[in-house]
Order: sequence, then structure tokens, then C-alpha cells
Amino acid sequence: MICDTHTHSMYSFDGVETIAAMCATAVSKGIQVLAVTDHTEVLTSKEMGDSERRRLREHREAVMEAQKLYAGKLKLLYACELGQPQFNPAWAEEMAQYPFDMVIGSIHFKKGDIDLYDVTYTRENRDECIHEYFEETKEMIRQGGFHTLGHLDYILRRMEGCFDGKPGYTIYREQVDEILSMLIERDIALEVNTAGLRKWLSALIEQWILERFRTLGGKYITIGSDAHVKEDIGAGFAEAAKLIRAAGFSEIVYFEKGQPVSVPLKGEV
Ligand SMILES: [Zn+2]
Ligand SMILES: [Zn+2]
Repeated sequence: MICDTHTHSMYSFDGVETIAAMCATAVSKGIQVLAVTDHTEVLTSKEMGDSERRRLREHREAVMEAQKLYAGKLKLLYACELGQPQFNPAWAEEMAQYPFDMVIGSIHFKKGDIDLYDVTYTRENRDECIHEYFEETKEMIRQGGFHTLGHLDYILRRMEGCFDGKPGYTIYREQVDEILSMLIERDIALEVNTAGLRKWLSALIEQWILERFRTLGGKYITIGSDAHVKEDIGAGFAEAAKLIRAAGFSEIVYFEKGQPVSVPLKGEV
């Protein structure tokens, strides 16, 4: 069974696809479970606002319509990618009222509502930036309200030239351990996000991190393509499955009504 639990539609600021078109593509690619996890970027300098509420309503209606249309062919989950909810607890609290099957917790911004993509990373500020990113990740985990931690390797994708060789977290093992332990204590899953394969870094999360997650007692892994166009749905899943298996896992999960559902990891995924 193939489960892509991280994708974006036209209800994301950076997405274009209708949910119905994404479902059609998923079915044609042999995918059985799809989560359209449109962005909610929680910011400190903004309130949730009516346009955000309208967007969430339209997204929900489109999901419900597609669920009816694809009943028996595709399990379409009602889901969301929630960015840095700790930046605005009132906003996060309102988001918790939505009956999502599955929520991804991600860090896209740093303090001051600065998009991590707009930061200039250098060898000099690298440690500090990664430290801040890990601290925000921990703060988000402490607050909770999500089921899987999105793309822990996100910041590395912007760090071209900041490391000798390929960017990675090997020199931050202790901090990574701390994050993994916090996830495990709370039964939060760790995501293998395949978008990294489509960026210059051309890499997935490092295998040792998945191994460490397992050693520390981690059970739940999710896979997401982070597709922003329908052609990318399910992209890189063979590589992701290979990596997850090499790290000693034989199952992945998706979340339905907030509960993990295990799915065996098969060679063809
Ligand atoms: Zn993201
Ligand atoms: Zn995403």
C-alpha cells in the first residue's frame, strides 16, 4: 500500500492543483492513501483572520467532495501542514478545533516571522542557524497538536557550501537525539520527506537519524512527497522505502482521526 501523506493543492499559497486532479493522479499512480496537507503558516505578527478561515473552509469542502467521488478507490485524508504553531498559541488553539485526520508539524520560519528560505546561510552562522532551528522544533514538539514532524532536514536544503561535503547533522548528534526522544515520548511520528531528492542537495533524511529513532524506541514513520504539482505525488518513494527498510523498519504509518494506522513497507512502494 502506498501512502503519500504530504502534498499541497491550490489551497496552499504555493500550490496550483485542484484536490480532484490530485486524487486522479494518485489513483493512476497506484497510491491508496493521500493526505492533502495544505499550509497553515502560523505567524507571531498576524492573527488567524477571516481569509484564512475561508481558505480552510474551502479546503475542507473540496476534500469532502473528493472523498465522496473517490470512495472505494482512494483513502483521502483530511489533513494540514501546520507551520510553527508555537509562534501564536491562540491561532494554534483555533486550528486544534478542526477535525483533521492528520497534522504535520513543520518549521518554515524563524523568530521574527523570517522565512527560513530568505536567510543567507554561511559557514560562520551555520551552527547558530541550525541550533535555532532545533530549538524551534523542540518548542513546537513541547506545544504539540500534530502527528508527524515534517522534514527535519528542511534547513539543510538551503545550506549549499556551508559544510565540507554534503550538509548533514552528524556533528549535531546530541541535539538530534533530544528531538527524537521528545517525539518518541509523545508518540509523534518522524517524516521521511522526499522533496530533498528534487532539490540541489538530492538527499533524504540521513539514515543514521532513522536508525537512532528506532534504537531510542521510535515506532512511527510517515512518508511524504511534499508535491506541489500533481506529477510529484509519490515521487522518490522507492528510495524512501529503501532507506526506511535499511534503518530497520518494516512498516510506516498514516494517521486517521489522529490515530496511527500501520502499513507494511513493501518493495514496490
Ligand atoms: Zn514544509
Ligand atoms: Zn509541505
